[in-house]
Parts: sequence; structure tokens; C-alpha cells
Amino acid sequence: MALTSDSEFEYPLCPVCSSDDRSTEFTFEKPYTVVVCGQCRMYYLYPRLTELAMLRFYEQDSYFQGGQSGYSDTGYSDQENALRSTFRRLMKRLAERKYTGGDLLEIGCGYGYLLEEARPYFDRRVGTEFSGEGVRLSEPKADAVFAGGIEAVPQEMKFDCIIATQVIEHVYRPLDFILQIRAHAKPGATVVLSTPDMGGMLRKVMGSRWPSFKRPEHVNYFDFRTLSGVMRDAGLVGLTNIPHPHAFPLALIASKFGARVPGVLGKTNIWVPATTVAIAGSVKDEGQS
Ligand SMILES: [Zn+2]
Repeated sequence: MALTSDSEFEYPLCPVCSSDDRSTEFTFEKPYTVVVCGQCRMYYLYPRLTELAMLRFYEQDSYFQGGQSGYSDTGYSDQENALRSTFRRLMKRLAERKYTGGDLLEIGCGYGYLLEEARPYFDRRVGTEFSGEGVRLSEPKADAVFAGGIEAVPQEMKFDCIIATQVIEHVYRPLDFILQIRAHAKPGATVVLSTPDMGGMLRKVMGSRWPSFKRPEHVNYFDFRTLSGVMRDAGLVGLTNIPHPHAFPLALIASKFGARVPGVLGKTNIWVPATTVAIAGSVKDEGQS
């Protein structure tokens, strides 16, 4: 399947504030650039694939296997150890803040590693996933997995906690996405969104070699200010930064600097702080003012 015919690209307005005032900040292989919005300072991919072309791209099972995942250049399952460690730490941070318990929904559950690590913390764990391979591998790790995105969750299902980790950078209409999440939240529920941190140390150190500059699939680049802004616009309250260090295999980081790390050493987890921004917000209780 050819991904790069001209008709498959669109030149979007700012995905957060719809402004067409932008300037180019990073230039990648043609036709991709990352621009910054002159109004709200949101960074986004410009141009981007049309949503239809992108959905066809995700439907290929090779998406997770062929180095296209948001996490690695070596495929998703190679990163299992690093991802599980990352999610275990996130669960601990959420439990400390009393955000766990009851029913959990994860949007974009990949191979189900987070849902499995969440088992001690929730009564029921449900996921959604676009990749057929991901659905198949997640199902044994969860109570239910729906094929697709948030719209695949039956309307009547409501949750105490909804997590979307490394998803909103893929989403074409971020505000609509959070509003859809809210429709599945019980009163007082917690919504946790995490995404590569455009304002983070790793991005600043690595410049345009930052591994999260993923074309074509990462269309939005948030930092704490822009992500908390869109969550607030969606009506979430009590927005809180959750420390979310991310483990990466050493080999992956070294490869970005053109270095090679031999064998076992390459699988060593390197904890990178402040490369991911995670924010928790609450859906107001009816009785709350
Ligand atoms: Zn904007």
C-alpha cells in the first residue's frame, strides 16, 4: 500500500485552537514538518495523513511489529520489559493518589501490558485497541477488549478510571476525544492522559532526533501547559501532574546517537525522567460545585 500519494495528505489548522497562524520549528523527510501554533503554542505535524489514510496504516498488523510503534525502532514486543516496568511505576503513583480501584478502561491498550500490571489495583479491567494482533494478545490479560477506539466501548459502560497512555498524540481532534472519554466516566472518576513531553528534557537534549517525533502517526506534540489546557476545556477539574519516568532499553537510546551497545547490555533499562507528561483530572461529581 502506498502511503504517500498527495491526496493522502492534509494541511491542518491547529488541532487545539483551530488557528492557521503557525511557524515551522522542525523539518523532517518530505513532506513532514512540525510547526508551532502562533496562538496557543501547540506543536503539531504539518502536513499529516488524512484520517482515512492513517486508519488504513494502523490496521496493518505490522504496525506494532515493524518498528512503527510509538516506543521503539525494534518493535513493540521487544520492549515488553521496559513497558511493564514503566506501567508498574505509573500504577504505584496512581494508587498513592487514590486514583485506583473499581473499573478501569484503557484506550489503546497495545498488547495489554498496562491492563495486566493494573490487575492488583482494579476490580475490572477493559481495553480498546485498533490492531487485531493487539486485541488478540490483550484479551487474556483483561476482562474485555474491544476492537477500535473509544467509540467501540458500549455506551452504557462507565468507569472509575480511564487511562490513555501514548494515545492523544495520535488523535486528530483531541478535545472531542476527551469529551468522548468523559461520556464513559462515572461521576468523580479519574481520567489519566500521558503523551511524549514536548517540554521535556529528553526532547530538548535530542532535538530533532527525539524518538517521539514519529511520522506519520504522531500528529500532536503536547507539553504540560497545552495538555492540561485541552483537558480543562473538556471540563476536567483538579488537574495534577503525575511523575511518569519512562524506561527505555539502552540500545534504543544509543542508536539515536549513532552508537551501538552489545547484546545483553542493550536490554538494560534506562529510566528517563520527564520524557513523558502525564496528567490526571477528575470528572465532577453531580453534587460538587
Ligand atoms: Zn493553537
